[in-house]
Order: sequence, then C-alpha cells, then structure tokens
Amino acid sequence: MPRCFCCNRPIPPGDLAVRFPCPNCGKIIIWRCSTCRSLSRPYKCPVCGFAGP
Ligand SMILES: [Zn+2]
Ligand SMILES: [Zn+2]
Repeated sequence: MPRCFCCNRPIPPGDLAVRFPCPNCGKIIIWRCSTCRSLSRPYKCPVCGFAGP
C-alpha cells in the first residue's frame, strides 16, 4: 500500500489521492492523500530533498 508523503499514513484503495513523479528529479512517484491535498500540505522528496506544496 502506498504511503502519503505528507502525513506518512497508508493510502487506502479508493482514496482520492494524487500521485506524480517528483518535479525535480523524477526518480520517485510522490503520493499525496486526499486530506493532505485539500489542506495543501507540503511534501518532501526522499531522493533529492525537493520540497513543494
Ligand atoms: Zn497525507
Ligand atoms: Zn526528487
């Protein structure tokens, strides 16, 4: 199960999460759960350290 990169919680199937490659390095798929997405919480890429909203 993927984990949200913002709150580190497992993302349940069916959650309106978004996933996208890191905009800086593109080496990893970043997951963001629906809660963090609606709250615009920042995420941080574990590969390159890039942080974004
Ligand atoms: Zn989250
Ligand atoms: Zn990155």
